[in-house]
Amino acid sequence: MYELVIIGGGPAGITAGIYAARKKIKTLLITKDFLGQAGLTGIIENWPGEKKISGPDLMRKFEDHLKEHDIDIKEGEQVFSLKKKKRFVVSTEWESIDAKAVIVATGRRQKRLGVRGEKELTGKGVVYCTTCDAPLFKNKSVVVAGGGNAGFEAAIELTDHAKKVFLFEGANDFSADEFLQEQAKERGVELYTGRTIEEIKGDNFVEEVIYNDAGNKDRDSMKTEGVFVQIGSVAINDFLDDELVDFDKNGDIMIDQGNCFTKTEGLLAAGDVTNTRDKQIIVSSGEGAKATLSLYEYLKRK
Ligand SMILES: Cc1cc2nc3c(=O)[nH]c(=O)nc-3n(C[C@H](O)[C@H](O)[C@H](O)COP(=O)(O)OP(=O)(O)OC[C@H]3O[C@@H](n4cnc5c(N)ncnc54)[C@H](O)[C@@H]3O)c2cc1C
Repeated sequence: MYELVIIGGGPAGITAGIYAARKKIKTLLITKDFLGQAGLTGIIENWPGEKKISGPDLMRKFEDHLKEHDIDIKEGEQVFSLKKKKRFVVSTEWESIDAKAVIVATGRRQKRLGVRGEKELTGKGVVYCTTCDAPLFKNKSVVVAGGGNAGFEAAIELTDHAKKVFLFEGANDFSADEFLQEQAKERGVELYTGRTIEEIKGDNFVEEVIYNDAGNKDRDSMKTEGVFVQIGSVAINDFLDDELVDFDKNGDIMIDQGNCFTKTEGLLAAGDVTNTRDKQIIVSSGEGAKATLSLYEYLKRK
């Protein structure tokens, strides 16, 4: 039995793990990967000590640092359920593990458009990670869905590869920062508001999007070879139910901001999966540290 199981190997989970090892808490960290969202990002310029570093390089450093320590790790595994009996029972596809305490640090994933053709063509021209896949669209024509910062950043990055980049925003205004909008215009991205994708078509690969223009009853279509979906993200919390944690209206896990505890004794959460306002690497890491230090005090009292 473990004193602590950490679920997630992004900045929050890794930092929680390093602190746990240094406090000699008997810990198991379970993660699908050691990338997280940060590892799928292009260039990071706001991690102190690294003026400019690629997301994958930063996360490799995090992972190496964690693995220097005495901590058990299950990599490439996914937690499917978390229950509380006398102890917590954390279940993966292969086994169930008992723990006195758990830190949930599972981060976020990109929202889906929820339109016909999206699921079938995911990985066949429908893309959620621009940094991972943009180079595959060399000299192709692509559509980015989403007019926030993520959509504009994706469109700008795509201009390094694609022949033509279109950006569709369903609302009447873009919400991205002004300087990103300026940069996209300078790079020749074709920008549309009030344009909503309703279907993605293609036999083996994306060939066409069907969209609706606000104020226009008719649907229109456009030939394209890629659809980059950047319409926001949701917390990864499918393995939790509301008996264990409260969720806010966005589905984020509510924590005590002072110590990262949820409403269930011994259950904490850290990073982007929580209702903490700012979703950033340094904030997630800080919360990972805070969660373990709070837990250390809690375990001493038990
Ligand atoms: C496009 C983009 C650009 C960004 N740029 C920046 C930037 O420049 N600077 C900055 O500070 N922040 C940036 N961010 C935000 C930053 O990436 C996040 O705040 C940070 O990665 C959150 O860390 P986390 O550990 O909470 O979650 P994540 O990084 O999401 O990590 C979660 C981990 O949990 C694992 N996991 C998920 N579900 C399970 C499960 N059921 N079982 C086991 N493991 C699971 C995942 O595989 C992953 O390893 C960016 C985000 C995006 C999307």
